[in-house]
Amino acid sequence: MDKIKMANPIVEMDGDEMTRILWQMIKDDLLLPYIDLNTEYYDLGLEYRDKTNDQVTVDSALATKKHHVAVKCATITPNAARVKEYNLKEMWKSPNGTIRAILDGTVFRAPIVVKGIEPCVKNWKKPITIARHAYGDVYKGVEMKIPGAGRAELVYTAADGTETRELIHSFDCPGIVQGMHNLTPSIESFARSCFNYALDTKQELWFATKDTISKKYDHTFKDIFQEIFDAEYKDAFEKAGITYFYTLIDDAVARVMKSEGGYIWACKNYDGDVMSDMISSAFGSLAMMTSVLVSPDGNYEYEAAHGTVQRHYYKHLKGEETSTNSVATIFAWTGALRKRGELDGNKELMAFADRLEKATLDTIEAGEMTKDLALITTLKNPTVLNSEGFIKAIARRLEA
Ligand code: NAP
Ligand code: MG
Repeated sequence: MDKIKMANPIVEMDGDEMTRILWQMIKDDLLLPYIDLNTEYYDLGLEYRDKTNDQVTVDSALATKKHHVAVKCATITPNAARVKEYNLKEMWKSPNGTIRAILDGTVFRAPIVVKGIEPCVKNWKKPITIARHAYGDVYKGVEMKIPGAGRAELVYTAADGTETRELIHSFDCPGIVQGMHNLTPSIESFARSCFNYALDTKQELWFATKDTISKKYDHTFKDIFQEIFDAEYKDAFEKAGITYFYTLIDDAVARVMKSEGGYIWACKNYDGDVMSDMISSAFGSLAMMTSVLVSPDGNYEYEAAHGTVQRHYYKHLKGEETSTNSVATIFAWTGALRKRGELDGNKELMAFADRLEKATLDTIEAGEMTKDLALITTLKNPTVLNSEGFIKAIARRLEA
């Protein structure tokens, strides 16, 4: 059989630790036998990031702007321990943060639903997709420790030099302060990405913030969403038979728990970070969650929602067997291949992505799975496979 050809490349961002091992296995066993894989490769492994003073991360994001589709392996965000472990020149910033700052946009995270892995919230029947704003707020925050008595103020100096001041607090004891920001164009593109994604996937859109307490900051998010919805999307939503619904974040959390699922929940940056871990673990596992960054100018970066699975990697280095779940990383690849196919009019590539996803889910539904799923499955007598064995089991189904 001829391998599937690709007219344009996908930007491939390699990563770290256990996910780097899975990355290679997925390419060798599930992709390269079937596709003339056309990728522009960037090594975002920590060693090479350090060697290039993190330039490789910036280059990979710029390449994504050029080619429009990227697939990313999980990467280490260095902390003090990693600086020592890898003898780093600097504590490099989170690659995801760098890439998001360059591409802007929204991260959509949806659980991968499969028979035999039931959500622990029993009324959840359909996936809940989290749409996380990927710019600003505490992730671009500036902080100060206040040593003792004194005034802390917010000061805005306009281009003409005029100052506007707001007292944060008059301290009479030590404390802490934090300043954060967002940008109107970024919030607008967040809103449009969410409305477009809702229309694309024909799902309701929910949005929630703490606007009753944060009367300027969060309220601005609420107002921008409503203005853009009324001006640009109201009719299209009506035609598609879907709704846009805004509520207070507390109310949203309560409603989510009682819902059936099947909608998109748009969250500010921090809420989305935290809530996506809650949603994914309640649906079964961090390793059963897809994640895609959609930028306002039509660039797509697919990744797994989990990290580099460090604990498993150390076992692997000691020569011990691991049972690491590769589903989210496989779905990052299928997401990127399908999108590449869609943009290039390559039906074969899109159909391949569908087949690989089906082979992956069929493998689990047939009772062959990694340990994390075997521990929670409702299927009787699952077969626990090691990291490689699971990928080989998928390859056998794909071949068939
Ligand atoms: P993690 O890699 O997501 O792993 C946390 C724990 O979750 C694992 O120890 C494992 O539990 C379980 N787990 C996660 N993914 C799994 C999978 N595919 N299969 C089976 N079990 C899985 O998070 P972390 O340990 O906090 O972070 C490790 C590194 O990843 C850090 O350096 C962090 O900076 C980085 N990170 C990167 C990204 C990203 O690139 N998107 C995101 C988050 C974290 P058990 O050990 O109990 O089996
Ligand atoms: Mg998180």
